[in-house]
Amino acid sequence: MSDQSTSPQPTLQAGEELHGFKVLRVKEFTEIRVTAYEIEHGKTGAKVLHLHSFDRENLYAIGLRTPPSDSTGLPHILEHSVLAGSEKYPLKDVFKELMRSTLQTFINAFTYPDKTIYPVASQIKTDFFNLARVYTDLVLHPRMLKETFLQEGHHLEFSKPDDLSSDLIISGIVYNEMKGAYSSSDSLIYKVLQENLYPDSVYAFDSGGDPDVIPTLTYEQFREFHRTYYSPTNARFFIYGDITTSEHLAFLAEMLTGSERVEIDSSIKSQKRLTAPRVIRGTYPIGKDESLQHKTIVNIAWMMSDNTDYEASLILEIISALLVGSAASPLRKALIDSGLGEDLSPVSGIEADLKQLMFCVGLRNTQSSDVENIEKLILDTLKNIVADGFDKELIEGVLHQVELHGKEIVRGSYPYGIALMGNVFQTWLYDGDPLIGLDFPRAIENIRGRWTADPQIFQKMTQQWFVDNPHRVLAIMEPDADFNDKKEKIYQEKMIKLKSSVSDSELTQINAEAKELKKFQVEQDSPQAAATIPKLKLEDITKSIDTIPTQNSLITGIPALEHDIFTNGIAYVDLAFDIAHVPEELQPYLPLMGKMITGMGAAGFTYEEMAKRIALKMGGLGYDLTTAFTADAGATWQKVIISFNALYRNLPDAINILSDIICAGDLSADARMRDLIAERKNNLQSAIVPSGHIFAKMAAGAALTVPAYRNEQWHGRTQLKFVEKTANDFGREKHDLREKLELLRKIIFNKENLVINLTAEAKGLKIAKENILELLDKLPASSAAKTQTKPLLAPVFAGISIPAQVSYVAYVLKTPAYTDPASALLMISAKELSNSYLYKHIRVQG
Ligand SMILES: [Zn+2]
Repeated sequence: MSDQSTSPQPTLQAGEELHGFKVLRVKEFTEIRVTAYEIEHGKTGAKVLHLHSFDRENLYAIGLRTPPSDSTGLPHILEHSVLAGSEKYPLKDVFKELMRSTLQTFINAFTYPDKTIYPVASQIKTDFFNLARVYTDLVLHPRMLKETFLQEGHHLEFSKPDDLSSDLIISGIVYNEMKGAYSSSDSLIYKVLQENLYPDSVYAFDSGGDPDVIPTLTYEQFREFHRTYYSPTNARFFIYGDITTSEHLAFLAEMLTGSERVEIDSSIKSQKRLTAPRVIRGTYPIGKDESLQHKTIVNIAWMMSDNTDYEASLILEIISALLVGSAASPLRKALIDSGLGEDLSPVSGIEADLKQLMFCVGLRNTQSSDVENIEKLILDTLKNIVADGFDKELIEGVLHQVELHGKEIVRGSYPYGIALMGNVFQTWLYDGDPLIGLDFPRAIENIRGRWTADPQIFQKMTQQWFVDNPHRVLAIMEPDADFNDKKEKIYQEKMIKLKSSVSDSELTQINAEAKELKKFQVEQDSPQAAATIPKLKLEDITKSIDTIPTQNSLITGIPALEHDIFTNGIAYVDLAFDIAHVPEELQPYLPLMGKMITGMGAAGFTYEEMAKRIALKMGGLGYDLTTAFTADAGATWQKVIISFNALYRNLPDAINILSDIICAGDLSADARMRDLIAERKNNLQSAIVPSGHIFAKMAAGAALTVPAYRNEQWHGRTQLKFVEKTANDFGREKHDLREKLELLRKIIFNKENLVINLTAEAKGLKIAKENILELLDKLPASSAAKTQTKPLLAPVFAGISIPAQVSYVAYVLKTPAYTDPASALLMISAKELSNSYLYKHIRVQG
């Protein structure tokens, strides 16, 4: 392993020229172990940023400014379409081919309101360059076939192919995707806010596409958009990882050969400031059998400072965290405690991926008659904060969170390079300094300095950007049980009108074109076309696999796993408690218990005080229920895992807080308990439409195995029904609820049930082990009562109706155990099925 105590030695100097590129700036960021090179291509003006690190998961991303000028979804349809194929790689779907035939660890494409980004990552150098090579060619030289446009964008066809008397319908991948998005209340709110807060800018349009507008897009407009924005001159290449800068430049020089500089102004214009607040009304779909009472969603959003003013943006992000980020936040508390609505609106917080920042806050499940009161409460609370200031400990807690997250070098579900890419594009896209967001320690130090010099700085900024800022929108969203019916009716009428307005020969032609498209879609790519995709050779793949160093040990008799790895001064602690023996009637309560123990008071501290303690000493506190088969499927296991991370210096306090939570939790505060239940109910409810496939999969799987049954019981529709009932009966049943949760606590939290998992450098492991002894001391030795429970699984053929313009279907099969030789083959088959046959028939052919 190389020395990771600092950043890689610079290999190029500012001013140096290489392969037709000029190095503009070199800067080391030792805290995150990165050396940054800001580079420009002489001939095309393409901008390049390489963050050289010790990470062998190299990332390559092409970012383009793609400001939309309407809501036809052009940037989104183009994002899908360029990945279909290029002259050099003339396959019908190169993206899917790369997914199948490379060792990519990340491959995707993202459409934002003002940019499109194409990232790929791999841990194998040859594979990395193969991916980068194909991706660059796709982005810069796509085939842009008419068929691709029809398939990804929109086309007409008959509901019964060849039957010209059947209905004429619109189909298309992006069109269908956006119909799904336009059924989700969260996306509808976001759209309404953005349209009205930035009425004269690109954000007034939906880059993803409005299903009502998508069908007006023409093939010529589609080609023109690519010609305008997809040039190296308009591109920003973001590269991260351990491959040297000179190798990347040699590669890029080859990729950019033949490209010329073009004249283009794609800069994102600022929205001019509104001088008076606006009020807007909208609707969102709910189920026909749902009550309309208390279903209004109210939000206020402000347009704030320019994104390129990094320090102002960071202070506003801190203020957002102070106002609504935790249970101790004054604006969140004022809104929840008012009883005017059930919980905070899901879009609350700051949005920094826009030219000018947006802050939003509001209440969910309120009533129309309270809109004025809610607006007044929000504005009054802000005025009071400006007058009285923020709690000092709250500020310290937020600064600690920013510091800790800046220090965290982790690969979550995304490569670490993706997180850094996000930081960079926040300023880079708007011609600000791309490196400014990488220097966390300095930024925090500056803000601390400003805070010391002027203790009222956060109040003053709150006054400037909230209280005195008239550029705001009040959005009132009302529920509408006929929302989808109305949409459907308008659509039907439009299609009938369209059908009657065209001649018979035109109808015949529509049918012929639709058939042509289907034929194109089922045609196999030729072997010659398939052979164009560069493939890895077996010798390119290392035979060894990465293993995480693990040492089994006992801490006062409790089994522990220790992982001594580089963690940049942060310790990761997980406590896994067995829950297999929890009685059947208490199983549905397990998710609620997590909500309660992490969200309520403990050991004499109120819930606000606990929230502050957690923010000051921990980097997040997790409670996860997890279940699976053993490797040979001989048994199943179920655990609750409580986890947190902390800077080494904070470990003693953090473990102390955890000990209070587990051993001395206080469930006595009624109002807080009711709010937490409502929040969980609303989050589950609004997750259904955007993640319908997951709910369908859980419902189907529950009939087959115990782990799948538990998973559905804890996270699926059954859980939503259970939480709804608990919320409705709260007044009557709260004593019973409290007793059950206390009983659960006794059954679960004891030494006999526990396995400890610790990850840190040796120094951190030592501190963690020493301090955890105190917690173990307080835990009882074994459980009060144990029962073996096994749920009765019953076959499911369920139809569940949801208020959406799209449907979700899941089919679940039981397969052999992990250790069965068939399982590896089945895993490959499953991947292959989703990437080829099923993908083609379901997604491509609609
Ligand atoms: Zn899409």
